[in-house]
Amino acid sequence: MIDPANFASLFEQLPLGAYRSTMEGKQLRANAAMVAFNGYDTEAEMLAVVEDISTEWYVDPSRRAEFLRLLARDGKVSRFVSEVFRHKTRERRWVAEYAHVVKDEHGTPVYVEGTVEDITERRYARKEVAASERRLRVLNDKSQSATIICTVDGVITYATPSLQQLLGYAPESMLGVNFFDSMHIDDQAEHRAEFRNVSLGRNTGQESVARHRHADGTWRYLASFASDCRDDPAVAGMVVYWRDTTDAQRAAQALQRVAQTDGLTGLVNRAHFESLARGALEAARTSGSRVALYFIDLDKFKWVNDSYGHAVGDQVLIGAVDRLRGVLAPNHVLARLGGDEFAVIAPLDLLSVVDEIAARWTDALARPLVVNEMAFQLSASVGVSVFPDDAASFETLLQHADHAMFAAKADRFHSFRRFEPSFSKQASEQALLAAELYRAVKARQFVVYFQPQFDASIGRTIGLEALVRWQHPTRGLVAPSEFIGVAEDQGLIRELGELVLHQALEAGAQLQQLPTLLPCFRIAVNTSVHQLRHPSFFSSVTQALTAKKIPASMLQIEVTESALIERSGRAAHTLNALRDVGVSIALDDLGVGYSSLDYLRRLNIDTIKLDREFVGGLPHKRIECAIVRAILTLATELNIELIAEGVETGEQAQWLAASGCQKLQGYFFAPPAPLSVIMERLSAER
Ligand code: C2E
Ligand code: CA
Ligand code: CA
Repeated sequence: MIDPANFASLFEQLPLGAYRSTMEGKQLRANAAMVAFNGYDTEAEMLAVVEDISTEWYVDPSRRAEFLRLLARDGKVSRFVSEVFRHKTRERRWVAEYAHVVKDEHGTPVYVEGTVEDITERRYARKEVAASERRLRVLNDKSQSATIICTVDGVITYATPSLQQLLGYAPESMLGVNFFDSMHIDDQAEHRAEFRNVSLGRNTGQESVARHRHADGTWRYLASFASDCRDDPAVAGMVVYWRDTTDAQRAAQALQRVAQTDGLTGLVNRAHFESLARGALEAARTSGSRVALYFIDLDKFKWVNDSYGHAVGDQVLIGAVDRLRGVLAPNHVLARLGGDEFAVIAPLDLLSVVDEIAARWTDALARPLVVNEMAFQLSASVGVSVFPDDAASFETLLQHADHAMFAAKADRFHSFRRFEPSFSKQASEQALLAAELYRAVKARQFVVYFQPQFDASIGRTIGLEALVRWQHPTRGLVAPSEFIGVAEDQGLIRELGELVLHQALEAGAQLQQLPTLLPCFRIAVNTSVHQLRHPSFFSSVTQALTAKKIPASMLQIEVTESALIERSGRAAHTLNALRDVGVSIALDDLGVGYSSLDYLRRLNIDTIKLDREFVGGLPHKRIECAIVRAILTLATELNIELIAEGVETGEQAQWLAASGCQKLQGYFFAPPAPLSVIMERLSAER
């Protein structure tokens, strides 16, 4: 039977030592934990040998006197910490005692009951702290550290003299001050919670850093380590050890700045921009104001990079950023998102200033930028979307600004556009197009049309230009202007170019069967610089020529300026190699905006194609006419063939022929057509 009034079993099983003794110190009862603590096996064995607690137990006998004094005064002791002997072995241990006096009905003390907790391990750990603290104190002068003792709330009761160096205050002047008062408001919540944890025995043992105000007004970064020494009579409080880490923190901040900025331009980088922008949106949400996000993309920057190399490209970028910085308002954040893409976050007072701000960016870039003694005419396309009008989240805001930028890029008359919902549709159409194109290249959904090139002096077709079309399953024939750019961006242009080259050479093989074909007849194939840069391009061309039994002179490669400018690059190498085996090279799209005609002298080319926009101005626009005459003179002098593209009227054809340009291509003579149509036409020629 279990007797509910009997506490004996609880007394026995308590993990804490528990005892009853006479006022004189004679042990009456001891539980198992108490017996074990003293090194004995049974209670009887222990009680038989313990005579007098006061002399046999406490290492410092005066502790017994103190124990009795407290009992006499308060009737109890709590957390009474002393060093004692394990009775049987004389090993020293630290204990914390709770005890009270049990009195009889007359109020006379009868015996003492109490518990004994072995705190040696904990105490040892704390001693370690104290020892390391002493060690650190020695280093104090140099390492800038200080130790304070404070209440569980943080009120300082003691501070080492080194506090003077650390925070600039005399230690005496800090007594009674709560150390949280000098702490930065933003650091307080975290550190108060941590301090409370330590006082509750949940010390994580980790150092944490908080900012404290120095007497000189600056913030110092103090790493602190707190421990609870309230039960240590020598300390009787919370100990906080402080180490000044201000220099280390500053170094870390400098590192962080590096991580937040773009190496080339020193602008805020994409990741940091995102967090700043989110902050700006949050602030605007709270205050009910607006924020504009501008997306700025340099036009034709890729061309600068491809043509002049990355070193020049980098200088151009830095110059462009300087210009943008110059017109930045103090509350704007300019960031480089990558490549030639920039973004600005601008809090708006009025929605109506959105355009004005955008004009700053475009105007800032308008003056030519001189790099390496070359003048670059920069321009940018700017898109903007406004929070909260156009988007409510950072992601959408950025995406919409991006879409608006694309709309600006496609717009011939405006370099700046504010987001409109239809832009998102266009952008998703672009993405769809890219996906479709990928499949189309794999499925070879392309046909090549050919457009004759005509020699007015002999009245015969001297060659064909191969022009690709996409045989789209639902849209029918799609013009290359709609997909060549996407193919280049998506890395599909090499495969597509290969397809065109093979169809063109296949056409060449069939044309060679025609008895009426001129011996100098050639087929021109448009070639992207990406193709030329590929190491196997040269061999795949020569192999295809051999396979189709076509002379190299029947092939002309049409390239744009960018392929020719990087003279030391791989593209130039490929072109020279092709030229060496007899393939001719044409420079496509020579236009009004051409940088320097003199530079044509330095290029290894056989043919120049006058751009159709140029030809469209003939014969009525005086400047165009003058330039064409100058080019003709130069071409004759350099022995370069000239072909005029986009000849649409008899008037243009006549003017060109009369001026000395006999080679003509355009709708006036023949539009691009399938090979079968061309074959018929050529058979009729003689
Ligand atoms: P491009 O090389 O300047 O080709 C000439 C373009 O002018 C062709 O447009 C042609 O149809 C058009 N055209 C011909 N005569 C006239 C005319 O009298 N008036 C007008 N207004 N236009 C005329 P298309 O076929 O749409 O090709 C557009 C561009 O696509 C080409 O311009 C070329 O840069 C590119 N392209 C076409 N095929 C290929 C290809 O196989 N590979 C590469 N990389 N690009 C290609
Ligand atoms: Ca062309
Ligand atoms: Ca052209």
